[in-house]
Amino acid sequence: MKPLNKIWINGKIVDLNRLNIPFFNQGLNYGACVYEGIRFYKTNDGSAIFRLHEHIKRFLYSASVLNMKLNLGEAGLIDGIRAVIKASKLKAGYIRPMAFYSKMGINIFNSNVTVAILIWSWNQEIVSKEVTMKVSKYKRLDPDSVDLKAKISGYYVNGLLGLIEARKDKYDEPLFLDGDGYLAEGAINNIFLVKDKNLYTPKPSNILGGITRDTIILISQDLGFRVLEKDILPKELNKADEVFLTGTGIEIKIVKKIKDFFSKKSHNSSVSRKIAKYYKSIVQGEVVKYKKWLTYV
Ligand code: PMP
Repeated sequence: MKPLNKIWINGKIVDLNRLNIPFFNQGLNYGACVYEGIRFYKTNDGSAIFRLHEHIKRFLYSASVLNMKLNLGEAGLIDGIRAVIKASKLKAGYIRPMAFYSKMGINIFNSNVTVAILIWSWNQEIVSKEVTMKVSKYKRLDPDSVDLKAKISGYYVNGLLGLIEARKDKYDEPLFLDGDGYLAEGAINNIFLVKDKNLYTPKPSNILGGITRDTIILISQDLGFRVLEKDILPKELNKADEVFLTGTGIEIKIVKKIKDFFSKKSHNSSVSRKIAKYYKSIVQGEVVKYKKWLTYV
């Protein structure tokens, strides 16, 4: 990951070094910031942004949950994203739209909102590294306490606590359970279990139902897999042949171990790799029926 020094902020491309970071803002002080993570890829027809409309829709939804009035809608955000990609000269990478309250104090009602679009290069190979996980002692945020469908920065402290706990025990990532003890998700990714020709993933009620998760559910049917959304207890993990994580950034990541619950049985994780390969061909515009998911820059 290499952040670029060009960013789009409130309608203009500016040099990051020339910006004053507003320390007195609610985003930094109270986590009142919403954001998206979006990938764009090199295709034979030029660079294309993957599932942009779904990401923008979620971004606008997240902003509405925090009662933010953005002074630009979907078209303005798309223009901004195109502008920042062009200014970066990157052919593939990662885009981070964000919006935060610019004033100080918990009362957000008279505050302006700053909208920014950051960009960085991202050349990580799909399925590059297999990860280990530890079920966290921290539970996933309760859907009755926050709106889990929104991507709000403050929520990520929950993910971070789990990450610190996992890393201290020499595991790569945390795995969160929901309040009823069922599998929920990772800090920034969703989870799938593979058993024979079936894929299992937690129901969307207690997680951020990721856009990659949705993509995997739709495309794996083309490969002959049946996808079931269900409540999954941690002890069911040891029946799985394979486990993988999904997210816009990581795409598909194979899990090799989950402390006390799972060790990879299938040596080459053939199902996860097959799905990852298909996913890659889709994001790169090689599958005609899914070209509808690409927005060319
Ligand atoms: N869960 C959480 C908590 C996340 O932050 C993310 C990353 N946005 C995901 C799941 C995966 O979502 P997506 O596939 O839309 O990137």
